Amino acid sequence: MIKSEPFDYIIVGGGSSGSVLAARLSEDPDCTVLLVEAGGSDWHPLFHMPAGFAKMTKGMASWGWHTVPQKHMKGSVLRYTQAKVIGGGSTINAQLYTRGNALDYDTWANDEGCTGWDYRSVLAYFKRAEDNQRFADDYHSYGGPLGVSMPVATLPICDAFIRAGQELGIPHNHDFNGKQQAGLGFYQLMQRDRRRSSASLGYLRPNQHRKNLTIIQNTFVSRIALENKRAKGIVVRRDNREEMIYATREVIVTSGAIGSPKLLMQSGIGPAEYLKSVGVSVHHDLPGVGSNLQDHLDLFVMAECTGDHTYDNVTKWYRTLWAGLQYLLFKSGPVASSLFETGGFWYADPNARAPDIQFHLGLGSGIEAGVARLKNAGVTLNSAYMRPHSRGTVRLLSSDPEDAPLIDPNYWAEPHDRKMSIEGLKIAREIMQQAALKPFVLAERLPGPSLKSEDDLFDYGCANAKTDHHPVGTCKMGTGPDAVVGLDLSVHGIEALRVADSSVMPRVPSCNTNAPTIMIGEKGSDLIRGREPLPPVTFAHEKNDQRPRARQFVM
Ligand SMILES: Cc1cc2nc3c(=O)[nH]c(=O)nc-3n(C[C@H](O)[C@H](O)[C@H](O)COP(=O)(O)OP(=O)(O)OC[C@H]3O[C@@H](n4cnc5c(N)ncnc54)[C@H](O)[C@@H]3O)c2cc1C
Repeated sequence: MIKSEPFDYIIVGGGSSGSVLAARLSEDPDCTVLLVEAGGSDWHPLFHMPAGFAKMTKGMASWGWHTVPQKHMKGSVLRYTQAKVIGGGSTINAQLYTRGNALDYDTWANDEGCTGWDYRSVLAYFKRAEDNQRFADDYHSYGGPLGVSMPVATLPICDAFIRAGQELGIPHNHDFNGKQQAGLGFYQLMQRDRRRSSASLGYLRPNQHRKNLTIIQNTFVSRIALENKRAKGIVVRRDNREEMIYATREVIVTSGAIGSPKLLMQSGIGPAEYLKSVGVSVHHDLPGVGSNLQDHLDLFVMAECTGDHTYDNVTKWYRTLWAGLQYLLFKSGPVASSLFETGGFWYADPNARAPDIQFHLGLGSGIEAGVARLKNAGVTLNSAYMRPHSRGTVRLLSSDPEDAPLIDPNYWAEPHDRKMSIEGLKIAREIMQQAALKPFVLAERLPGPSLKSEDDLFDYGCANAKTDHHPVGTCKMGTGPDAVVGLDLSVHGIEALRVADSSVMPRVPSCNTNAPTIMIGEKGSDLIRGREPLPPVTFAHEKNDQRPRARQFVM
């Protein structure tokens, strides 16, 4: 094995959180930082064009994983796209900027023992990350590394969708990340100047020339090297050789909710009996590694349009050509669309304390891999139940690090989740049938009007459901016996080793998971640097501020 020069910090995985940590830790010129990413660079224009997302779930820059057969879904095997590229999920995702509900983080603090990770405390870090084009209030900020913008390529069907919600009693919401989460409206998108704003572009690109920051790509970390319950470095495979790289201060694992538990287990950290059964020598028995997998499962209604109301027909070659030119010359048109620009949050369970269903309106059919494409222009309304009770696992196929992991989200293990998913699908169907959408929607094609009973919809779900790509929880933060990391993200029982990505979330928040992961990277960087945490946010109305804020107009 060859040995390389040591670094103070080694970060494994240059995804959403790894990019944040590399940029923040290397702000200190007195320390050296190495970021190692298994995937390649994000030079390809498709990563930067908002509509490039359509290609991303179809295999580009991904590990090519699938779930194991889902026991509670008639044995279905679902495609499980996870990023393998610098910037990770933030380079290939649909760019929707959502943070969930205050209740999500207050539950982390109050029910999961994660003191200091309550809503007001994490809000300070959401704001530090943010460069919001439009909002600057209690909930939003500008000037941060992550561009957040209003969509620029919406279509009339988007407004009709928002009106349809109101016809059904779902209010219009102009900011899902503000005072109220419930309602339908336009998403804000992780974009800046009509281009994707990934963690790689926002955090790494401006800092990549720092002398104390080294970024290596196309390099797979096969294990963490341990000595007497301390992480001393990593072992990487390059040019078919093993190479040891030492960390003088810490190894920080940010390999994602599937990759992080996989790497810990490959390194002998995990449930001891299980590790032995797959031939991995045990360094540290930590039962929670790879358990507590949570994800959002997505069902969808697909309808045929009355005409060319979505972006489906842009796939015709002459329209693709024009769309490309339009974007190159004016940064407008279909290529400037994330294809999911409207959506929102509502209640599948009318007694829920906070919204539990999320909708995404897809401006076409067959946008994502595995989803049927209609012959004529179509529109898709996705609905995902956001507070699943089911818990799954990530396990190893063998002791060979190159083997794909066994991913078992265990969808619908809890009958409650199945019931709520189907409720969400029914609400999505109702929205599509409202008067406001009549000029745009010809007829429902999937599930199709003939599928009505719970059993019909269950069968439809088993055949068509897909992941929303929000795995979390597999290196759970907390203090209980199943926790993997403490509140400072240090791995229980191992020195100089932290996990700091989506895998530490004790419960999946009720939203898309990129912004919450970036928040974890931001807060994690302060914890690692030993800095005082940002003070919890105080809202303007609590500050006893006497300045006049709004004039009273009398009509
Ligand atoms: C197709 C898709 C669409 C999505 N859409 C949205 C959306 O619109 N909005 C939203 O908020 N969220 C979305 N998400 C979710 C969001 O992007 C993820 O939650 C987030 O990126 C997770 O960040 P992470 O840092 O935990 O992991 P990742 O970003 O996945 O980063 C992990 C990185 O580690 C690398 N890695 C793994 N193992 C190793 C190893 N052994 N050695 C070296 N490197 C390794 C991987 O290649 C990867 O780059 C989407 C995700 C996907 C996949």
